[in-house]
Amino acid sequence: MVTAGPTREHLDPVRFLSNPSTGKMGFAVAGAAARRGCETVLVAGPVALKTPAGVKRVDVVSAREMLAAVKAAVADGGETVLVATAAVADWRPAKCAARKLKKRRMPDVLKLVRNPDILKTVKGVRKVGFAAETGAPVKEAARKCREKKLEFTVANDVLEKGAGFGCDTNKVAFVYPDGSVKDLPLMSKRSVAGRIVDEVLRA
Ligand code: C5P
Repeated sequence: MVTAGPTREHLDPVRFLSNPSTGKMGFAVAGAAARRGCETVLVAGPVALKTPAGVKRVDVVSAREMLAAVKAAVADGGETVLVATAAVADWRPAKCAARKLKKRRMPDVLKLVRNPDILKTVKGVRKVGFAAETGAPVKEAARKCREKKLEFTVANDVLEKGAGFGCDTNKVAFVYPDGSVKDLPLMSKRSVAGRIVDEVLRA
């Protein structure tokens, strides 16, 4: 199971909080898993990408919808591995209006509440996380591995050239709970995806 893309956290039907994730990394992971014969479910936030061949796709908008979709797919049972590439919004507006808010009635300060951490919440499956950081990705990734009980974390520094949001390449390191690191060179997201799935299947 792969989560991908951003989530949108609406404050009314036409306004939301989000981030620049395009879903490319997650879609590549889902495609690589399907090509290797895994039954693959892709839970995708709002992105403009074609579903990879052989992948079952579930579209969601918000973090809470993404969590529900992941839980439903886990409930199907089997030997699930969750690869969480999604850039889930950490907060959502405390209230979402049913109709477009009038500008004059918009508050200057938006009250936010914390979203659930999907990767942390889901238990009873093997888990792989991502850590997109701006500086010191390895240290953060090792901490995330331990905190979220992950087999490994795919760490990248989104400020580095050729890495992160939107581009077709990525430069990542696999970071393990014991703090050990496997550095990968700059390569296409398709190749990174293959390496991630191979690492999962190797274990
Ligand atoms: O703690 P941080 O958000 O940096 O962790 C990143 C990892 O956790 C990614 O794998 C991301 O998909 C996952 N995550 C999640 N739900 C959240 C926040 C992050 O599944 N609400």
